Amino acid sequence: MKNQLGFLLDMDGVVYRGNQMIPAADRFIETLKKNEVPFLFLTNNSQRARRDIAMKLQRMGIAAESDDVFTCAMATARFLAQQRKRVTAFVIGENGLTSALHHNGIAVVDDDADYVVIGEGRTMNFEMVEKAVRLVEKGARLVATNLDATCPTDQGTRPGCGAIVAMIEKATGVQAFSVGKLSGVMMRMAQRQLGVRSEHTVMVGDTMYTDILGGVEMGFITCLVLSGHTKIEEVKRYAYQPDHIIESLAHMPDALMEKAGIISKTGGVAA
Ligand SMILES: [Mg+2]
Repeated sequence: MKNQLGFLLDMDGVVYRGNQMIPAADRFIETLKKNEVPFLFLTNNSQRARRDIAMKLQRMGIAAESDDVFTCAMATARFLAQQRKRVTAFVIGENGLTSALHHNGIAVVDDDADYVVIGEGRTMNFEMVEKAVRLVEKGARLVATNLDATCPTDQGTRPGCGAIVAMIEKATGVQAFSVGKLSGVMMRMAQRQLGVRSEHTVMVGDTMYTDILGGVEMGFITCLVLSGHTKIEEVKRYAYQPDHIIESLAHMPDALMEKAGIISKTGGVAA
């Protein structure tokens, strides 16, 4: 584990909003890359595979590779593979989730599943929910890739994974285990992948109750950006507070840029 700072960057509200890049996000990423500061894009979106997410970023002008992306679908698949051998899962979700499961040796099945795994998406139907409920009743463990109630889209709100999970929880009386942010499972996996210590990990996000709370619980340095959906007036209502509050990635505090070795103490860009 290095003493160097590393950054975990939430995506929606931090790097882009909908299909629009947040100004100067591209320059911030370039600066991290140029200075070899470890970073990962950390997303509770299980719908898309990491390669597709990297492509979305590239099209916005952000120099991102598949390896820079860490999704809750990857965290869920790795977690299940660590729990036991020859795992089977019934899945409500899309390509990002099923490909992560396959990649980790988990078979996606229609019956006799060890786990019922839920992600978000638009292809779900009621028959699948019914199947999920019956498998959980038969003893399958209920796992959520995340509990976000909604997904923001350009057209408006879409029910998120948490909303789908709630339906199954209500019908079965079984509470799901969630792997995505703010769960320590995903936060710890991402930090390990960064290869830096907890106290040197900076979690940058726009949501208090996932990004910031998850970071606080892990002992990370937390940085709330106001370029997403949290307004400054709301922040003081929370019992936990971020270490830094900034307008956007373009305003990363000098103290962190110095610690990361990006600027020298005199304020100049490090050679
Ligand atoms: Mg966000």
